[in-house]
Amino acid sequence: MIGQAAEQPKHIVIMGAGLVGSMHAIFLARRGYQVAVYEQLPDIRKERISAGRSINLALANRGIDALDRLGLMAAVEPLLIPMRGRMLHDEHGELKLQSYGQKAEEVIYSVSRAGLVSLLRDAAEATGQVEFFFKHECLSIDFDQNQCEILNKPHDKKLTVHYDYLIGADGGGSQVRASMKALNETEFSAELLDHSYKELNIPAGPNGEFQLDKEALHIWPRGDYMMIGLPNPDASFTLTLFMPNEGEVSFAAINDVATLNKVFDEYFADAKDLIPELETEYFSNPTGYLGTIRCQDWHYKSAVLTGDAAHAIVPFHGQGMNAGFEDCVAMENALEAHSDDWELAMPVFVESRMDNSNAIADMALENYIEMRSTVNDPKFHLKKAIAFELEQRLPDYFIPRYSMVMFHLIPYAEAFARGKIQYRILDELTDGISDVKQVDFDRAERLVKQKLPRL
Ligand SMILES: Cc1cc2nc3c(=O)[nH]c(=O)nc-3n(C[C@H](O)[C@H](O)[C@H](O)COP(=O)(O)OP(=O)(O)OC[C@H]3O[C@@H](n4cnc5c(N)ncnc54)[C@H](O)[C@@H]3O)c2cc1C
Repeated sequence: MIGQAAEQPKHIVIMGAGLVGSMHAIFLARRGYQVAVYEQLPDIRKERISAGRSINLALANRGIDALDRLGLMAAVEPLLIPMRGRMLHDEHGELKLQSYGQKAEEVIYSVSRAGLVSLLRDAAEATGQVEFFFKHECLSIDFDQNQCEILNKPHDKKLTVHYDYLIGADGGGSQVRASMKALNETEFSAELLDHSYKELNIPAGPNGEFQLDKEALHIWPRGDYMMIGLPNPDASFTLTLFMPNEGEVSFAAINDVATLNKVFDEYFADAKDLIPELETEYFSNPTGYLGTIRCQDWHYKSAVLTGDAAHAIVPFHGQGMNAGFEDCVAMENALEAHSDDWELAMPVFVESRMDNSNAIADMALENYIEMRSTVNDPKFHLKKAIAFELEQRLPDYFIPRYSMVMFHLIPYAEAFARGKIQYRILDELTDGISDVKQVDFDRAERLVKQKLPRL
């Protein structure tokens, strides 16, 4: 037992048994708390649930760090497929691999959402201090009385559940956040993107083989829209088509089989051949909305928000879960630093995460443009090559922004701020040139040292 909770055990309620709620439960159980986790959905370990969100996710360094702290990485490893870079598919089916990093360990991993959440729930239960209540939906919260009204769905019965502290890990549509807002205790903005997404599937080949390079995140960048594909352990790929809601090529425009086939023939021909159920999947899989939630405060009385409930972001940096896992570590650090005095730890936790969450929200929005469009620009590749060279020459000053976010634990806000300076340096260095050999690296090094503080 790590914390001081053993002397004065407190009862923690976590709302939401998603990735973040399940991970918080493990951290808190390890500190000696009794934890009850309420989840509106059935348990995916026991019942098949049609995925409302992406089937697989990119796991990167921040998420790995959190799993490592819990000693879970060895158990997670069999679920992972390394992705070394972006495999860009042009309209003629030509492929180009663009490495994410430049060191052998600089890869991200595709992981199944259901596999990971099941593993976290198993690990939470194995502590003997966490109890999950599935098919229990939070209806409202009385922050003065420290109690929640919860609907036991199978019995259609309302329960009143007391807590000492409440963690709102109930995702982008958080009821905990809504209850705070109803009392004017927080303000939040929800910026819905005018683009949505839909999942499609490339099954394994006839001999159970991957039909595309399995060690890459595949992207079909088409300017205003794009499709991406991540590998699964069963040799299939889950594709996600991101498109505007309205417009010439959009979810509104593709509303019959002929238009669907025409768009895929024209823009995604190499993928189309590999999606046998394209028509069925396109017209029966749900279209998911995308947005950014920014909250003015995540803490009210004995309740605190975390994960997507506090800061849902668009998925284009593959960081929503990773950021949520980092929240779990931040909460653990705050409790440790304040000897489990929650009154002190909660505001410290919020303070440590707020700017960082806003920064990753902004970077995730920017990355959509990079993935669907900028990757087609030769200048982008030139800048990337120069950035890698500068990282090699001056590793204490210059790390490409993507690497800072994905392969390091540099706070998001710092990565965002340094990234802005770095972009300006790269703009200056690439002005009027078309090849990395034309760069004057002595000047480049001087510029970097002038403009960027040492890391
Ligand atoms: C298309 C897509 C792709 C993504 N790709 C990546 C990626 O590659 N890498 C990455 O890091 N992130 C990715 N994300 C983001 C990631 O999915 C989220 O950041 C992550 O799921 C957040 O976890 P969470 O536990 O905070 O919220 P959620 O996963 O939403 O879990 C919240 C839980 O709370 C439950 N709940 C909600 N309301 C109630 C209630 N009233 N009562 C009880 N329970 C309730 C829900 O059923 C749910 O189980 C992606 C997201 C999308 C949409």
